[in-house]
Amino acid sequence: MIRPNLPTFAFLMALGACTTSVPGMTQAAAPPPGVQGPQAAQPAGPFTLPPLPYAYDALTSVIDAQTMELHHQRHHGAQVAALNAAAAADPSLGALSLEQILATVSSRPAAVRNNAGGHWNHSFFWTVMAPVGQGGEPSPALQAAINRDFSSLEGLRTAFRTASMGRFGSGWAWLVVRPDGTLAVGSTPNQDNPLMDDSPFKGTPIFGNDVWEHAFYLRYQNRRAEYVDGWWSLINWNEVNRRFAAATQ
Ligand code: MN
Repeated sequence: MIRPNLPTFAFLMALGACTTSVPGMTQAAAPPPGVQGPQAAQPAGPFTLPPLPYAYDALTSVIDAQTMELHHQRHHGAQVAALNAAAAADPSLGALSLEQILATVSSRPAAVRNNAGGHWNHSFFWTVMAPVGQGGEPSPALQAAINRDFSSLEGLRTAFRTASMGRFGSGWAWLVVRPDGTLAVGSTPNQDNPLMDDSPFKGTPIFGNDVWEHAFYLRYQNRRAEYVDGWWSLINWNEVNRRFAAATQ
C-alpha cells in the first residue's frame, strides 16, 4: 500500500491544491476547505435570528440585561433553529414568508405552529420596545383611534393590563387593528398570535407583550403585574405609529 507523504499532503490540502485522488484516501475523508470552519456549526436554514435594535442593557429600568440576552439568544434563537429544522424536513416552508405560514398554520404540524409563531412574535416584540424616554408618543391619528375605542390612553392601558393578567399560563397580550379599522385588545396562548388563521382573536398587531415567565422571572419572579405595569414605559410609540399607519392606510 502506498502511503502519501503526510506533511506534504496536509500542506497541499491547506492550499486547496489537492484535486487528484490519493491511494488509501476516499473523497469523504477529504472535506473541501471551509466546511469545518466556524460557520459550519451554525444551523443553516431560511430563517434567521434578527439582531436587537438596542443593547441588551438598554431596557434595564424594566428588563435586566441577562433576561434580554437569554430571551433573545436562547429562547428566540431556539425557535429559529427549530423552525429551520422543520424547513429542512419540509423545504416548501422556506419559500413562504412567516405571515404566509401563520395564515395557513391550522393545517401544519404543531412544531411549525409553535416555532413560526414564536419567531414572528419575538421579532415583532423587540421592535415595539425602546429605552424609556426614547419611544415617543402616540401619533394624532393613533391617539384619536385610542380615544374612540378606549376613551383614553389610560383606558387602553387598563384594557391591556386586564388582558395581560387574564392570560392563564403562557402567552401574549396584543393591541391589534381589526379588519374594520377599529382597535382591539386581547390575548393568545402559548406562541399563538392574531395572524394565525384559526386564532379566535384576529387582527394586525401594533404592539404586544410577552407574558411568558421567561420574559420577567429573574427580576419579578411571580409578580407578572409589576412587569406588565413597568413594560408600558418601554412602548416604542414611534414604531407602533408606523404599524398603525400601515394597517389603516
Ligand atoms: Mn418569549
